[in-house]
Amino acid sequence: MICPYCSAELPDDAQYCSECGGDVTVTQTQLAKTSHADAHTNISRVSGEIEKQRNAKLGVAVVVGVSAIAVILAIIGLALLF
Ligand SMILES: [Zn+2]
Repeated sequence: MICPYCSAELPDDAQYCSECGGDVTVTQTQLAKTSHADAHTNISRVSGEIEKQRNAKLGVAVVVGVSAIAVILAIIGLALLF
């Protein structure tokens, strides 16, 4: 394996780097977890964005519909007043 700290060539079963003394096992596990978590976060974020855009479109449609009803009600109200 390669030391993630100093890029030194190490035996595959090394736990500590013989060059810089870094904890190779922990770092490799953390790196694997981190990249996996990042990929998962990216997927979640992308689907979240799509969901947000869908909700935004729905929200616009609702606002337009409510506004149209409000305008119609206002016209009816004015017509009844006069
Ligand atoms: Zn090292």
